[in-house]
Amino acid sequence: MKNLLGGKGANLAEMSSTGVPVPPGFTITTEVCTEYNKLGREKIVEVLKDDVEKEIAKIEEQTNTKFGSNETPCLLSVRSGARVSMPGMMDTVLNLGLNDEAVEGLAKKTNNDRFAWDSYRRFIQMYGDVVMGLEPESKEDPDPFEEIIENLKEKKGVEKDVDLTTDDLKNMVQEFKNIIKKRLGKEFPQDPWEQLWGAVMAVFDSWNTPRAKYYRQMHKIPEEWGTAVNVMAMVFGNMGEDSGTGVAFTRDAATGENVFNGEFLMNAQGEDVVAGIRTPQQITKAGSQNWAKLQGVSEEERKKTFPSLEEMFPDIYKELYDIQESLEKHYKDMQDLEFTIQEGKLWLLQTRNGKRTGAAMVKIAMDMLDEGILDEKTAVLRNEPNKLDELLHPVFNPEGLKEATTIAKGLPASPGAATGQLVFFADDAEEWGNQGKDVILARTETSPEDLKGMNLARGILTSRGGMTSHAAVVARGMGKCCIAGAGSVQINYRKKTMTVDGKTYQEGDWVSLNGSTGEMYEGKVPTHDPELSGNFARVMELSEKYAKMGVRTNADTPYDSKTAREFGAIGIGLCRTEHMFFEGDRITAMREMILSTKKEDRVKALHKLLPMQREDFEGIFEAMQDLPVTVRLLDPPLHEFVPHEEKNQKQMADELGVSLEEVQKTVDSLHEMNPMLGHRGCRLGNTYPEITEMQVRAIIEAALNLKKKGIKAYPEIMVPLTGIFEEMKMQENIARATAEKVFEEYNDRIDYLVGTMIEVPRATVIADKIAESAEFFSFGTNDLTQMTFGYSRDDAGKFLPVYMNNGILKDDPFQILDQEGVGQLVEMGTKRGRQTRKDLKVGICGEHGGEPRSVEFCHGVGMNYVSCSPYRVPIARLAAAQAAIKEKQNQ
Ligand code: PEP
Ligand code: MG
Repeated sequence: MKNLLGGKGANLAEMSSTGVPVPPGFTITTEVCTEYNKLGREKIVEVLKDDVEKEIAKIEEQTNTKFGSNETPCLLSVRSGARVSMPGMMDTVLNLGLNDEAVEGLAKKTNNDRFAWDSYRRFIQMYGDVVMGLEPESKEDPDPFEEIIENLKEKKGVEKDVDLTTDDLKNMVQEFKNIIKKRLGKEFPQDPWEQLWGAVMAVFDSWNTPRAKYYRQMHKIPEEWGTAVNVMAMVFGNMGEDSGTGVAFTRDAATGENVFNGEFLMNAQGEDVVAGIRTPQQITKAGSQNWAKLQGVSEEERKKTFPSLEEMFPDIYKELYDIQESLEKHYKDMQDLEFTIQEGKLWLLQTRNGKRTGAAMVKIAMDMLDEGILDEKTAVLRNEPNKLDELLHPVFNPEGLKEATTIAKGLPASPGAATGQLVFFADDAEEWGNQGKDVILARTETSPEDLKGMNLARGILTSRGGMTSHAAVVARGMGKCCIAGAGSVQINYRKKTMTVDGKTYQEGDWVSLNGSTGEMYEGKVPTHDPELSGNFARVMELSEKYAKMGVRTNADTPYDSKTAREFGAIGIGLCRTEHMFFEGDRITAMREMILSTKKEDRVKALHKLLPMQREDFEGIFEAMQDLPVTVRLLDPPLHEFVPHEEKNQKQMADELGVSLEEVQKTVDSLHEMNPMLGHRGCRLGNTYPEITEMQVRAIIEAALNLKKKGIKAYPEIMVPLTGIFEEMKMQENIARATAEKVFEEYNDRIDYLVGTMIEVPRATVIADKIAESAEFFSFGTNDLTQMTFGYSRDDAGKFLPVYMNNGILKDDPFQILDQEGVGQLVEMGTKRGRQTRKDLKVGICGEHGGEPRSVEFCHGVGMNYVSCSPYRVPIARLAAAQAAIKEKQNQ
């Protein structure tokens, strides 16, 4: 049902059928959105017209109103709703159906002039923005409608919108219509049907806005899904002091704690809560008291100005409480609800699985398991692997915090520790973030336009808005630290400054945010590694229980190896040895080897490298003791080890005691047109066998040395870039002969394997032959993707974004394994390899080894393990468990 009706539409239908009070309405399906994109507006209106008219007639009947009537106008809300929720990304229009005459009718019918005109001005404002496209002229300019409101308030000397009179609102309506006419050259439409079709199409169009596209890319939501459109009778939260609107969560979306919580505003419409224009009140008394403590509001002041819904309207609170309880039970997940109270009657406008932080995700899943709501497998599936990443990042040092100067306090909207330089515009956050700078984005409030900048910022601060404001909801969804509604902060967009209690901070100043307490500090506060116990550890244990594949790590230092081991890696799947050649005087010995024209000279230079390599391996083997370590022989082309600037070439010549010309001659001779397809990988080891000999000797000697100390090492020697059986065989022969020599010298032995990377397409085709020599395979899907697509790994960034924007490619194949093409080669390579060697050990060590969807694919192919960078190990472990669970469920 969700696929057709969208999440919102399906849940509304379900709520309505279970007796939850939901306003009457209907849903235009996601299929129509797809058709609209192909056929255009006119055709779609023609197709839908009869059905929509029939549905509206039903709403009219139930609400005793008439669409287009001047006396009893039927007013509608038009809202988006994709299969999965994309909060705030697409458009909404409320109060549709009002015009210059209907507003009078509404005023008369409700006997409430102010309400009618307030509704009308809100409608024009939303419609003008969403459907007609009236926007600020530049980023520093305020929203044109907001500017009119602010000017009017200033003229009248009032602070709040609610202090404006009916006449003020009438003037506002006129000014709104004028600015639309002036800026857009068109009138605000008076015909309700024109309004309705305009709004429906605008919602469809909002599926394709850059921000929605960006959100989909971020969350891997397919482009072709489209959005549904929900048309519903309006219920009004702005009908007076017994009306209001709010957002509630069945559990805490920031921490996962099992407490009902939320915010509401009296005499307001839904958008007011999300936009953070007024300070919302808390739903529960406990929440309200907590909030007051954080904001420094006294209990007396709280009761007077910000009482909770529980205290103000206990009956409505009780009804809402019961509904949230039953909805959570029904959906078996934390719910995010929207509700409106119209003249003392409660209406539910939406329920959906609430967005949450990584910490909340893990806690809610484990709590629901303990509460018997979920079984183990479902609890494992409830965790989104990539979101575990949030739990692995540093938190502030308690010592550091003691010494930090607090600048301001706001609401702890999304936990975490963030330190960065202040910027005040989302596009600056994007630019600075792309330059590798750490930034904190500070805004009065955020809007969906700011998404990209928010994503690139370390943390987000807003001076307005509550726990359910746009900034708060989006930050939690991204797992980004956020403080919302820090009321003492004044932001000046023109000057790019932030002033708090008389002190001004400039763009670029460093601040730190504590999203768990809502405190902002001056400068950089030191951090330390997070605690990986509790619920996180439980999720990892369950993953262990259900996963079939193991997870190894790509690491080439003892430090990284240890980190990965703590995260649960069961070995190293790829130790790239080339990184070891750059440190200290190693590079000099390496260059000496490269400059050598005779084998003896090369061997001499390599001899200098041997003890250093051996030491490296000893460190890594020791960190990974008792676990296998796959060491890859030298892979990159030799030109990567020589300098290309004359100044550095001169230095190299001096160090090695040769002439500059000689260095330059060698550098020139190493030049290749296509180095990634050139003299690299096993092609190096086969032209200069002495390199392989030195490396294998270092590996075996290291293992034997550790054996003497009682430490067990299981080296797996990996040949890179094999494409031909004979080149693999030659490397195997060199490796085995060298190992035997060392065993003889030591008069001792260890177990080791010789295997290969499968990263040249040809190798996947002749994998059965290669397996005659290789004892294991590890798919190097970085190179395999490069060579299968014919895309350079280093240059594809120039066209891949265009390809993805135009839908030529759904994903970046260097990030998410291309199952359709590259995946087939992986599958074939595995099968053919195992035809020769039944229990051939197969793994993957390209970037894809830590990407959840690719991990699922690897499980399906029957790999023994995936290998990824240390911080992705927990993600891959969870993804591996989920793959196994899903496979069982589908059987
Ligand atoms: C690969 O090609 O996938 C791989 C792991 O090797 P590298 O990235 O070092 O080329
Ligand atoms: Mg490679």
